[in-house]
Amino acid sequence: MPAQVIPEIIFPGIQLLGKEIPSSSFKRLEGKVAIITGGAGGIGEATVRLFAANGAYVIIADVEDILGNSLANSISSHVTYVHCDVTSEEDIENLINSTVSKYGKLDILFNNAGILGNQSKHKSILNFDADEFDQIMRVNVRGSALGMKHAARAMIRCGGCIISTASVAGVLGGLGPHSYTASKHAIVGLTKNAACELGRYGIRVNCISPFGVATRMLVNAWRDGGGEGGDCVSEEEVEKMEEIVRGLGNLKGETLRTRDIAEAALFLASDESRYISGHNLVVDGGVTTSKNCVGL
Ligand code: NAD
Repeated sequence: MPAQVIPEIIFPGIQLLGKEIPSSSFKRLEGKVAIITGGAGGIGEATVRLFAANGAYVIIADVEDILGNSLANSISSHVTYVHCDVTSEEDIENLINSTVSKYGKLDILFNNAGILGNQSKHKSILNFDADEFDQIMRVNVRGSALGMKHAARAMIRCGGCIISTASVAGVLGGLGPHSYTASKHAIVGLTKNAACELGRYGIRVNCISPFGVATRMLVNAWRDGGGEGGDCVSEEEVEKMEEIVRGLGNLKGETLRTRDIAEAALFLASDESRYISGHNLVVDGGVTTSKNCVGL
C-alpha cells in the first residue's frame, strides 16, 4: 500500500484510520436502545450486562421486579427496569411505547423470556398436559410474536433488529419436553416468516438456539424435575449442572455459559451482522450436528 494512503476502516475496533485501538474499548452498540425480555436473570441478565458495556441504553423487561430493579441499579443509569409479562399485549405495548417516548426510538428487541415447564412429570406424550402446553406457548411463542409485532411497528421507519431465544430443542427432537420443543420450533418459524416480511423495512429478524446453560431454569428442572420457581440456585448446583451439560456436549473441554449466548446476541444486534436475517444461530458446540447427540 502506498505510504500516503490512509487505510480506511478495515474492521471496527481493529483499525481506524490507521490507528490501532484496543477492541475492548470499541463499543459495538453505542447509543442504541435495546429491550431485553427475561432480562432479570440467566441469559437475559448476561445480555443486559454485555449490551450496557457496549454502550447501549438497556431496558430490562421481566416479571421479577426485585431482581430486575436491583440489576438495573447495579449497572448504570443507562439501564432501567420495566415490569412486563410477555403474555400480556397491554404490557408489551406499554413497554415499547414507554421506551420510544423516553429514548425516541427502539433499535433492538431481544425476545428472551421463556419457560421450560415441568421436565419430568409429564415427560411422555401419553401424559400430555394441555394446560401446561397452553402456558408454555403463551410465554414462549405468543410473547415472542407480540414482541415482534410491537417492536416492528416502532422500527418500521428507521429499521432495527429483533432477536429471539429459541433452543437446540427447536432444531432437533428429543432435547426437551414436548411443549417446550414445540414452542421453540415455533420461534424458529416465526423468525423466518417475520424476517421475510420485515426485510423491506430494514428490520433484521434472527434467533439464537443455545444448548444447555446452567441457569435457574435448567438447575430447577434438574433439581426436582419441575420447571420454574423463584428458588435460589446455589453455586454447587450450577457447577453440578455445568458438569452434566459438559458430559452431554460434543465440544469437549469447554463449558457453555450465559456470556456465550450474550455474545451471540451482541453479534446479531450489532452492525457486524448487518446482512444477516432469518437466521437461527445455533450455539451448541456441534451437538445438533453430531450423530452422538444425546437427549437432555
Ligand atoms: P431463566 O429462568 O434464568 O430466565 C428466564 C427469565 O424469563 C426470568 O428472568 C423470568 O423471570 C423471565 N420470564 C419468565 N416468564 C416471563 C413472562 N411471562 N414475562 C416476562 N418475563 C418472564 O432461564 P434462561 O435459561 O436464562 O432462559 C432464557 C431463555 O433461554 C429462555 O427463552 C429459554 O427457553 C432459553 N434457553 C435456555 C437454555 C438453557 O439451557 N438455560 C437453553 C436453550 C434456550
